[in-house]
Amino acid sequence: MLKENVDVLVIGAGPSGCVAASYLHNNGVKIKVVERSKFPRFVIGESLIPRVMDHFDEAGLLDALKAMDFEKKFGARFIRGEELCVFDFSQKFGEGWDWTWQVPRADFDNTLAQEVIKKGIDLEFETEVLDVVFNGSDSVTTIRDKEGVTREVHAKFIIDSSGYGRVLPRILKLDAPSSIPENSSMFAHVKDVNRPEGVEGTQITFDILETKVWLWVIPFSNGNTSIGVVGPTSYIKSLGDNTTEALKEVIKQSDFYRDRFEGVDFLFEPHKIENYSCSVTRLCGPGYSLTGNSSEFLDPVFSSGVCFATESGMLSAKLFLRELNGETVDWDTEYTAYMRRGVDVFATYVKEWYTGNLQTLFFHRPENPDVKQKICSVLAGYVWDEENPFVKKHDRVIKSMAYMLQNEQSAQ
Ligand code: FAD
Repeated sequence: MLKENVDVLVIGAGPSGCVAASYLHNNGVKIKVVERSKFPRFVIGESLIPRVMDHFDEAGLLDALKAMDFEKKFGARFIRGEELCVFDFSQKFGEGWDWTWQVPRADFDNTLAQEVIKKGIDLEFETEVLDVVFNGSDSVTTIRDKEGVTREVHAKFIIDSSGYGRVLPRILKLDAPSSIPENSSMFAHVKDVNRPEGVEGTQITFDILETKVWLWVIPFSNGNTSIGVVGPTSYIKSLGDNTTEALKEVIKQSDFYRDRFEGVDFLFEPHKIENYSCSVTRLCGPGYSLTGNSSEFLDPVFSSGVCFATESGMLSAKLFLRELNGETVDWDTEYTAYMRRGVDVFATYVKEWYTGNLQTLFFHRPENPDVKQKICSVLAGYVWDEENPFVKKHDRVIKSMAYMLQNEQSAQ
């Protein structure tokens, strides 16, 4: 069988894999990326948050993305009936980027992958990982390319960025249930022919239809808009198997968007993903790390997926580089504990969204600008900033504040 030797094998060319590969290549590490599909390919995850800009910048991928003129995202709007809550990333607590993009991922991910190839990285599309065998931290991965030829890749380290492919979690039996309640989603793109002029037309919005059911509207700079509904799996199932009719019915429930999308056809039959949340028993082991969706995915409500994908891809790359240069790395502390801290913060926000507590804070009037700035920083992805009490005390602060506001309201 044909054999290749590399320092690092990256599985999957999504944002996580591209950021990791690019950073390592820029630092002289021999990389190979294998990607099962042919790009451009559809994937969901279109609303980014500002923290990702740090990662694309550090990986040397930001200029290529800037050249694409994707729709800029400066914040996010939440709607509940007549009530509005608008976050502006420039008004957040602490340092950090105050804008990012809302993107059709087929084009976005293809831009990243083509830039990675342009740098000279060996990225093979339509090449699938069949098996991985570890010998200590060294590994032999069997891959099959588009011609059906099977080869072996010998690597010192594997970064598994295979998203829902979850290559190493499957092979090493690392799958674990998520702590997030079982939710599902249905989504499609439309040609947004009734898009209003100005900011309203490009405004990213989360419209709450019921406490646990919400609709996303994500306009792209190409004139298309992504629309999706998220809710408990039992609710999504109750909508039936005809996803086109089901999503149309849900859109009709939105007072805000009913007219804009009335009679507008979907560009493809809406996709359905059931029980998308997933986790793993460990994030790394001898000779490998799991990044992005291959490790953990919580929920789309705060658009944290790509951010965790690039954060974990970048951190894995940096830690492996240090190891390659002879340093000792404590992966449990420097990788697992660090990633878990950020995931835990977002997990609290997701859970408190679905209990309704966070919605109580969002829609309480008059607004408390101090609270809003601190929550805004979390929504921008700065979930490791321990200066922010809404990060540091995430497990208590939302619950107790919502309780206080609810008591205040019932006393009135
Ligand atoms: P991916 O982008 O999925 O890339 C993984 C790649 O690995 C794929 O290209 C795949 O083809 C490849 N692969 C798989 N198996 C193999 C194999 N055996 N061999 C080789 N290659 C393989 N996130 C956000 O940030 N914002 C959002 O608005 C958002 N909305 C979402 C809505 C829904 C309904 C869901 C379910 C998720 C959403 N997400 C969102 C999450 C987002 O989709 C993911 O977190 C993100 O795409 C993860 O990036 P990644 O690089 O880890 O994986």
